[in-house]
Amino acid sequence: MSTRTFDAVICDIDGCLCGEDGSPFDLASLARIREHNEQSIKHQDRPTITVCTGRPVGFAEAMTRLIGNSVLPAIAEMGVYLHHPESAQSELDPAIDSGHLQSVAGLEGHFHENLKPTGVTMQPGKSASVTLWHENTEHLRGSVYPGVRELCEQNSWPFRVSMSWFYINCDLTHISKGTGIERFKSLTGFGSDRLVGIGDTSSDLEIRKQVGFFACPANAHDDVKAVADYVASKPEAEGVLEILGHISAL
Ligand SMILES: [Mg+2]
Repeated sequence: MSTRTFDAVICDIDGCLCGEDGSPFDLASLARIREHNEQSIKHQDRPTITVCTGRPVGFAEAMTRLIGNSVLPAIAEMGVYLHHPESAQSELDPAIDSGHLQSVAGLEGHFHENLKPTGVTMQPGKSASVTLWHENTEHLRGSVYPGVRELCEQNSWPFRVSMSWFYINCDLTHISKGTGIERFKSLTGFGSDRLVGIGDTSSDLEIRKQVGFFACPANAHDDVKAVADYVASKPEAEGVLEILGHISAL
């Protein structure tokens, strides 16, 4: 019989398992997280860690394999995909229909025709969301961002357009990390009280709503720390290890 307090840890990737800035992986800490998962899967004595990210599904699959999660679905592209490690298949949310995908194609077309010539780039590898970047963040925030919002409104494209530190994120309004976790719950049968969440920025507030216990690494934004049950003293992957130690004592 399982004696663990929680069944799963749903962990954001950037700013939690690795740096936000593209720096090298902290392999020593990730190896210890992988050992945690190996013990979890073998003995069912601690929760298994999976990922929940805005990144494309290929990156989520790679991180899932790196941390040794061979059993639980991973949530990718801000809820657009679940990736199943057992079958190595990725599954688009069935609530995304061809009309939604036409809106995505419309926005991508606008990027290629109008934004790309002005130095804006689009993050590759996404299927049902659009992420834009420009080296001049002020230009992105002051000019591109209001233009994209207006364009979506004019065309009735159902996007939630938001600005993070360096990116414009356009996500379908009915899809989020929260809807991804709802799918995860119905597949696994785990209720909120069996789940721990870990996140560092505002899109992770959707994780907070879906879990019984929520924690942050030290580098998390203040608005995320404010709703956490536990804040680690260390940043990123070291902070995640600290959180795993903390919850094992609960
Ligand atoms: Mg993050």
